[in-house]
Amino acid sequence: MNLILFGPPAAGKGTQAKRLVETRGLIQLSTGDMLRAAIASGSALGRQVEGIMSRGELVTDEIVIGLIEERLPEADAAGGAIFDGFPRTLAQAQALDSMLARRGGKIDLVIRLKVDEAALKARVAGRFAESGRADDNPTAFEQRLVAYNRDTAPLLPYYEAQNKLANVDGMAAVEAVSTEIDGALIGASS
Ligand code: AMP
Repeated sequence: MNLILFGPPAAGKGTQAKRLVETRGLIQLSTGDMLRAAIASGSALGRQVEGIMSRGELVTDEIVIGLIEERLPEADAAGGAIFDGFPRTLAQAQALDSMLARRGGKIDLVIRLKVDEAALKARVAGRFAESGRADDNPTAFEQRLVAYNRDTAPLLPYYEAQNKLANVDGMAAVEAVSTEIDGALIGASS
């Protein structure tokens, strides 16, 4: 089973992805985590993306599609993946569909965490002190929201048209969000 956790930055995608890894045995493929690891390792890729990420802008489709493609064999072995923070553009979504199709797979469900932008900003302001993420500062976060609304939100009709979209209230408590996601997964597999 292949799932996409979809939503703006700080919506709780990573938290829910990690829980699904534990409960379903799928692997989490977070392009943000992969890029942060590249920066931490000091690799050429890390140096290339560091400035872009700290400003809250998107790195190129080519880079993230390549990172995901490298990890798909692991997803095959685990019986599927939870895509977290990918795809973020229509080109990425189309590339993901064809990469999966070539391996005989597909996206089964897109779980969209719906959140209120003002509440998101408050959440990030609260976590900036302890997160240590360069891109959680107010200016970069604002830019991440701009990128989400401009490049990523337009994917919603793409998945809606394929009948793959499950809307979940991302403003609820973590456990309530988890319960709603589990319900959507039961609905999708029946
Ligand atoms: P995230 O941890 O998913 O919030 O991603 C952190 C940052 O990594 C984003 O603000 C982008 O700069 C970059 N990034 C992560 N995933 C992607 C993606 N799929 N496409 C483009 N940029 C990405």
